[in-house]
Amino acid sequence: MTTNAVTIDSNSGAQTRAAFRDVQLYTPDRGAVAIDLSDNTNRWGAPPAALRELRASPESALARYPDVYAASLKEALAAYVRADCPTVSPAMIVTDCGSDDVLDSAIRAFAESGDRLAMLQPSFPMVPLFARMNGLSVDPIPLNASYDLDVDRLLAGDPAIVYLCSPNNPTGTIVPRATIEAVIARARGVVIVDEAYVEFSGASVVDLVARSPRLLVVRTLSKAFGLAGLRVGYGIGNATLIAEVEKSRGPYKVSAASERAAVAALTEDLDWVRARVADAVTNRATLVTALRERGLDVLPSASNFLLAPMKDARGIARGMRDRGVAVRAFSDLHCDIPALQFTNGSALRISVGPWPELEAALAAFDEARAACG
Ligand code: PMP
Repeated sequence: MTTNAVTIDSNSGAQTRAAFRDVQLYTPDRGAVAIDLSDNTNRWGAPPAALRELRASPESALARYPDVYAASLKEALAAYVRADCPTVSPAMIVTDCGSDDVLDSAIRAFAESGDRLAMLQPSFPMVPLFARMNGLSVDPIPLNASYDLDVDRLLAGDPAIVYLCSPNNPTGTIVPRATIEAVIARARGVVIVDEAYVEFSGASVVDLVARSPRLLVVRTLSKAFGLAGLRVGYGIGNATLIAEVEKSRGPYKVSAASERAAVAALTEDLDWVRARVADAVTNRATLVTALRERGLDVLPSASNFLLAPMKDARGIARGMRDRGVAVRAFSDLHCDIPALQFTNGSALRISVGPWPELEAALAAFDEARAACG
């Protein structure tokens, strides 16, 4: 039986939704590798107080449900965010199982099936997937040669949701604050700014939530905080906007052990986080120089990773993996940045970690590139 939206799968008998039919499972190469510079997590590890609290979790943290909406985590996050926006209160924060789920919950909360989501191209690939699964169509706007975007073009389709990522994954570049302000001023719908890597740029726009009721800033503890395994993400916005995301998120989304460890990190580990961020920023500059010495055109990164356009990035990444170093290869980063046009969208993304790991990555890169001819 077939209807517009639902098909009965003849093998399983299960109903499948039209929007899901072409969706593939996310299958990154997670095979064992000595040095993993593929996912922009914290290569220095996890912060000490978080580790201590996780190890000391009581039985009740496993046997009982966690706090419904993670109230103590919201308190700790509000205190952390107040450094950038003094008026933030816990009611202006929503937590979730990773910032992936904040994004998905927000799209579900603010858009109807058939609406449009406008975003940069290239950017975080989970967002078009969440959009499509929620029944939205996606308008990709190419990043231009100045690492900026055309606001008229972004808003031309009257999108219900605009998604901007700054620093942007996978380019590492900043969306200029003036551009974000212009988008917020003119957009009809909700504007999501993904600041997953903001600790490495220091260029947050979270202060704008105090004056813009349509802005949702999304962040995570998976990157600078070294807690990707805990799955803690959060959103910051006007309390009315946040209440809608919270409905969409639903109860019990952050585990008790995660909440406990995350609160410890936010209250006791900030010096550790800042020191690792400083290390990453230093090593990023050294790695840029090393890659440019190899004739590569590296994009200006404000994050904990670098994007280096090069032909045959996939072949080189395979060669590096054979030599014990995982990096992320892309073949479809089409936009108006000349270096990416030259390689027809082919590029390597390398996470920044401790220098010995980056030295090993450079050696693996040299060998892999030589082998690829
Ligand atoms: N946003 C961006 C830009 C990302 O790069 C990532 C992770 N790669 C996420 C969100 C999701 O991170 P998490 O779900 O671990 O918070």
